Amino acid sequence: MTAQRIDGKALAAQVRAEVAVHAAALTAAGRQPGLAVILVGANPASQVYVRNKVAACEQAGMRSILETHAATLREADLLARIHTLNQDEAVHGILVQLPLPAHIDAHRVIEAISPRKDVDGFHVSSAGALMVGQPGFRPCTPLGCMRMLEHIGMGRLRGKHAVVVGRSNIVGKPMAMMLLAADATVTIAHSGTADLAAICRQADVLVAAVGKVGLITADMVKPGAVVIDVGMNRNAEGALCGDVDFGAVEQVAGWITPVPGGVGPMTIAMLLANTVQACEQF
Ligand code: NAP
Repeated sequence: MTAQRIDGKALAAQVRAEVAVHAAALTAAGRQPGLAVILVGANPASQVYVRNKVAACEQAGMRSILETHAATLREADLLARIHTLNQDEAVHGILVQLPLPAHIDAHRVIEAISPRKDVDGFHVSSAGALMVGQPGFRPCTPLGCMRMLEHIGMGRLRGKHAVVVGRSNIVGKPMAMMLLAADATVTIAHSGTADLAAICRQADVLVAAVGKVGLITADMVKPGAVVIDVGMNRNAEGALCGDVDFGAVEQVAGWITPVPGGVGPMTIAMLLANTVQACEQF
């Protein structure tokens, strides 16, 4: 059996087209959605992510404000910029690209963003809302994964076992909460998990969010399972790849997301969707 691929690029284009319709309606009503993106330092990967986010924003007819600061920016000055953007009525979403330089406390910075503008969904109040099942911004990457599951008719997961490998605040934990909200029975695995392979083999839905090339091998996948690869790595040849041994796992899984062209494009699309939502709720 060869798995069906979940085409994140095509689905993201669909989401972006939906977002553009909403953005046009809001703009016509005199309220163009606006996203402020802040980059501190010159991390090359972050520069690419930020450029892509800004370009996607503009393509969807939204306003974007890109602020780049030297790596030496003081934390107090970054917090002051965020306070100003919190007050700016033309800015509906604020995103601070992570990672931040070591002298800046990322948690303090995220907490400074108004929860009404927290389109990344990383603020404690957004995380808390997810935890207790209240409305709020959901982190874009797991939100994109859920949209992919809906797309293949797996939006409801009663009776299914989902395994999330990785427990970061931005991917693993919110992913697990969203799967739980969709009625899956959820297991979270991490670097301290014993016999990862045996746990993964129980998964009807397996989400890999680790950052290790080739971590998920074919023997770890239940035949027919849905495999979502969040990982974004470079292999020995320097090519972009995920955490899943794609060629081999594709022979076992029922559905699989490729890297590139899977979760990555969905993350950006969901950021735009969150920004439009922020503007609509303003
Ligand atoms: P992270 O903060 O480094 O978290 C990695 C997680 O993997 C941790 O919970 C860690 O466990 C766990 N882990 C490490 N080694 C493991 C092992 N051998 N077995 C099982 N679990 C293991 O990373 P992240 O920010 O969540 O990102 C994860 C990956 O997704 C990265 O490749 C990142 O680039 C990618 N990513 C992609 C997108 C996208 O849009 N496609 C968005 C965000 C992130 P401990 O907690 O025990 O250390």
